[in-house]
Amino acid sequence: MKTTFLAKYVLFLVFVGVIVFLLVSGCGTVGPYTNNGGRLHGEASISAPIRLLTLSGVKSVSISALGACKIVNGETNAQIDFLKSGDLQVACSEKGLIVNDNHVAAVKIRVIPEGGKIKIGEIVFRGIAEIVCEKNEMNVINELGIEELVMSQVGREVSSGFKPEALKAQAIAARTFVLHEKSHSKFNGYDLKNLAGEGRIYFGTYTEHIPGNEAVDATRGITLRYQGETAFTPYFSNCGGYTEDVSEVWGTDSKEPYLIPVPCYFCKTAEHTWQSEIAKSHIVATLSAAGHSVGDIFDIDPNFETSKSGRSKTVKVVTDKGKIVLSLNEFRSIVGYNVLRSARSLTCRQRPGAFYFTGKGWGHGVGMCQDGANGMAKLGNDYKGILRRYYPGTEIYRK
Ligand SMILES: [Zn+2]
Repeated sequence: MKTTFLAKYVLFLVFVGVIVFLLVSGCGTVGPYTNNGGRLHGEASISAPIRLLTLSGVKSVSISALGACKIVNGETNAQIDFLKSGDLQVACSEKGLIVNDNHVAAVKIRVIPEGGKIKIGEIVFRGIAEIVCEKNEMNVINELGIEELVMSQVGREVSSGFKPEALKAQAIAARTFVLHEKSHSKFNGYDLKNLAGEGRIYFGTYTEHIPGNEAVDATRGITLRYQGETAFTPYFSNCGGYTEDVSEVWGTDSKEPYLIPVPCYFCKTAEHTWQSEIAKSHIVATLSAAGHSVGDIFDIDPNFETSKSGRSKTVKVVTDKGKIVLSLNEFRSIVGYNVLRSARSLTCRQRPGAFYFTGKGWGHGVGMCQDGANGMAKLGNDYKGILRRYYPGTEIYRK
């Protein structure tokens, strides 16, 4: 009896402690914001919307709400108009915004579609559009929930034919990645840039697929943390047998202890090896465009320096103007990420007028190997096992 009473007393204390902790910590939601949209240091809240700069410095924009939409003043929230069908041409003047040839007394408006989707230019986005007029130019911000963004990311990153547990792992990795990026944002008025040609993170609804959306729903709110903070969770297509240390790819400032080389036996059945013939003229042209003065190339050593796990770190290009040493990342970005797919097991041979490369895997190699994740799922592993393997030491966190 005495033991039972003691156990109940301890349980009561633990219960009270948990309640006090939740009240103090805001139920796990941290991430204070300044009034001007700038962010103080801290974690971003997973339940807060993400604000993406989608168009920058435009004079006019065509926006369609799919169905009816409400237009409100972006500063006062007062309703300006309600349109049954929302085809809008928005322009900017010194007096403020002009919507369908009518001046509205506001420099910032929010277009809120009843159906939750909005077309900006040619792309259908989830969420709402905010249009800000400044100095006769407009910025268009797409505001949406993180889960809506992750649907698009999962669909774009992996095939609908992936196993459900691999799709779940991808959803969690993508959600965590976006939240991490948001936590470290230094922009004012928006969280992340989503401009064409500048590393888009959200591609609208057209990249979504049903199995991906189901995986997002099944893992809603789950992220990975390391020592209580949102982890940095990059991913890529195929590791070619071994993932890479983060510092080998993105420099010694990157020290995440859970982004270390791990063996991967699970991606061999997928697109594991590649070969690519790149015209010498293409390499000369792209190197020149990147600011390297080159007229001819005599030789390329693709493994001038290698990482501990055997990936190429730097490439030496012997040219008529001397030797150029480039990081493998830089070389890939110059000649094309899709022609030089990875840094693993790189070989390079000269052919008439061209260089012939072979290698293993596809992508930067840091974090989760997507083909490996699918291979693990096929063998019966769940998303937790997959994430533990590729981000060892992180913990699964459910808000
Ligand atoms: Zn792999």
